[in-house]
Amino acid sequence: MKFNITLEEAQSLVLERCQPVETEFVHLNDALGRVLGRDIRAEENIPPFSRSPYDGYAFRAEDTIGATEANPVTLEVIEEVPAGYAPQKKVITGKAVKILTGAPIPEGADAVTKYEETGINGAYVEIYTSFKSNENIVPAGEDVAIDEIIAYKGTAVSPPIIGLMSALGITEVEVHKRPRIAIISTGDELLDISEPLSPGKIRNSNAYTLAAYCKELGTDPVIMGTVRDKTEEVARFINQGLEDADMVITTGGVSVGDYDVVGDAVKAAGAETLFWKIEIKPGSPSLAAVKDSKLILALSGSPAAAMVIYQLVGMVFIKKLAGWSEVFHPQTEVILKKDFRKASPRRRFLRGRLLVEDGTAYVETIGGQGNGVLRSLVGCDILAEIPEGSGPLKAGEKLTAYLLD
Ligand code: AMP
Ligand code: MG
Repeated sequence: MKFNITLEEAQSLVLERCQPVETEFVHLNDALGRVLGRDIRAEENIPPFSRSPYDGYAFRAEDTIGATEANPVTLEVIEEVPAGYAPQKKVITGKAVKILTGAPIPEGADAVTKYEETGINGAYVEIYTSFKSNENIVPAGEDVAIDEIIAYKGTAVSPPIIGLMSALGITEVEVHKRPRIAIISTGDELLDISEPLSPGKIRNSNAYTLAAYCKELGTDPVIMGTVRDKTEEVARFINQGLEDADMVITTGGVSVGDYDVVGDAVKAAGAETLFWKIEIKPGSPSLAAVKDSKLILALSGSPAAAMVIYQLVGMVFIKKLAGWSEVFHPQTEVILKKDFRKASPRRRFLRGRLLVEDGTAYVETIGGQGNGVLRSLVGCDILAEIPEGSGPLKAGEKLTAYLLD
């Protein structure tokens, strides 16, 4: 077991033990947001044939050489092709076909003019300018060419991907199953959210917050309820969670107090502890363990501390578990909007909101930064990093921020 490690060590220790969940086939209509289990390769062109972008006339470009307003070229119209129909005739010198938007370009034609830019003279059309070959022709495969990959394994299905797959006739798509995540809340003080308060008790908000974050990530959380600060009971809950789910997250009882039984419970459950304590603030007292190739992530009971470690370690792990190829939060530089008066002997993550003003990115902290202040996470879309050993910071200081959305 490793003790007091860096955030990056904690991330790699859990990622090393992570195997993505298996895949399943779902109908395209149920695929939005799901993580692709394989690359999607186009087996056809989109569009499948070259087509007209306008209502107008199709003809041979070389027939229009030298055409002007004063000296137009006159072509005989031999057919009309609406969208949805195949041309029956070939276009030869001196001939044109009336064509509508989306209709296939007839054989022999290599240019299209807009209807409004022609003159009609009985069965003849007058063209006033000269055209180049392929002018106003949408080629087959303009959107997607056959054999191109339209979406990669490990990325989420988005609305345009659904559109492209529809155009290709792909009705079933292979995606990763939604990982099931068991959430256990430890603590003698915990009441369920429907219970009235009584002396010394608080409601179990962590389970619901975590479940909501897990849902946002497209996973399937299972709230297992609250368990007393008793090693054997917590161990039993952990084993139950491992049976029911792909991963277990616990909150509370992972520090050094007399009632902090989660470290022992993990051992009693038969799991191998990977690490205990990460050298960051908030959320340092966190632990990770593995049993039967499944991760148990034990977070502090303090709501904000728990959620920060969930974001920095839990989410990274869950993304890999869910099949994502990119699991780390993108980072960017931000400017501190207001003074931050506390010193940071230990590396610290500030919960904040990204503000862009006059083209500059700022971090604005929300509410207090205490471990229990969950309100600091309302609207929080970045975690800004203050390096270890920093004194109080003045507004204007440059920080690295981890983007959460
Ligand atoms: P612990 O990590 O067990 O030392 O708990 C730290 C703080 O978080 C204490 O104030 C607990 O009462 C609080 N806490 C523990 N579990 C929860 C929970 N499930 N929901 C909200 N607060 C909690
Ligand atoms: Mg406790």
